[in-house]
Amino acid sequence: MKHSKMHLHFLKHTFIIIALFFSCASIAQDARFIVVLDAGHGGHDPGAMGDIAREKDINLAVVLNLGAMLERNFKDVKVIYTRKTDVYLTLQERADIVNNNHADLFICIHTNASKSSAAYGAETFTLGLAKSKANLDVAMRENSVILLEEDYRTKYKGFDPASVESYIMFEFMQDKYIDKSVEFSSNIQKQFVSYSHRSDRGVRQAGFWVLHRSACPSVLIELGFISNPAEERYLNSENGQTEMASAIYNAFIMYKRNHDKMSGRQNASVSTHDLIVNKADTSKEIVSTKVETTESKNTTILNDVDSYPNKANEANQVPIFKVQLLASSGKLNNKSPKFKGLKNVDYFVEDGLYKYTIGKETAYKEILKVRDKIATKFPQSFVIAFVGDKKMTAKEALMLIK
Ligand SMILES: [Zn+2]
Repeated sequence: MKHSKMHLHFLKHTFIIIALFFSCASIAQDARFIVVLDAGHGGHDPGAMGDIAREKDINLAVVLNLGAMLERNFKDVKVIYTRKTDVYLTLQERADIVNNNHADLFICIHTNASKSSAAYGAETFTLGLAKSKANLDVAMRENSVILLEEDYRTKYKGFDPASVESYIMFEFMQDKYIDKSVEFSSNIQKQFVSYSHRSDRGVRQAGFWVLHRSACPSVLIELGFISNPAEERYLNSENGQTEMASAIYNAFIMYKRNHDKMSGRQNASVSTHDLIVNKADTSKEIVSTKVETTESKNTTILNDVDSYPNKANEANQVPIFKVQLLASSGKLNNKSPKFKGLKNVDYFVEDGLYKYTIGKETAYKEILKVRDKIATKFPQSFVIAFVGDKKMTAKEALMLIK
């Protein structure tokens, strides 16, 4: 009797030890950083259509490329795909994959389209209230896939992707992941410029259903415009798809480093990931850049920019570079707390919005220094340029002085 009791006691302990072992093993598994990659559209939903390419195919090619890089180089990252083939998923199904897997980061990849074939450039969205009609248009177009579903009014709780009124909900919504989402978006945009030499349309906000329903830092990338023939060719090419995936991969490295530092998980394995450097658009190799922070990454961008001569243009087309801080529907007092103590803030009016800027430089290198100084306070700020009264992107202005 005594014997069997002891035996039972022993068994009980063994069981507890085994149980502990398994629960630790599952904790160890959960400790991996989980990224969900979402190639927009698919199956009977082609997304935007170009002359030679379909959005769904470009999105998937970039996702598979990016996923392969992450799987190859990050042992502590688990990559989950919403789709790896040409299949259709609803927006809610995509968000469910994010939430059911307790993802740490959600990356949606899309390709833009415009009625005008002149529009080009890459932009990254985080969730928020669209501050311009252009941003709202992108969200409405991407959300419109909801209309392909039967009974979408019940499923999406009365949200009508085609009605402007539906988007007002995003104004009152608190997104606790916004800072992280914006941080990652800024990394992506920097890499699109410095690595892929894309035109920077900036980090933007709009009401995307798929981001709204996902409980983790989330971004939606618009790689470029399928409606612009040159950009369509680039995005449809293997080189273009690899470059765009590499740029996002670099942005991920920077984001993950910061994430590990903040969560105290910085260890030897973290520093082994080096950014891929795009050497003069010809040969690509992984070099040890020892880039530790976003600041040092900016140095790389500056070096790239050095190749643009800052000579004055004879045709009196000297661009003036400025940093756009924020936009507001009403005019702000120059002591407004929204400027976070910045002085000498200037503004211009566009699309019915007051857009506030700081700095005024003819050399792009100089304006980047201004942008770097305020980047922590204004992570969403970006460089714009004016030639006379004409506003343009930094890239467009750089083309003029090239
Ligand atoms: Zn799309």
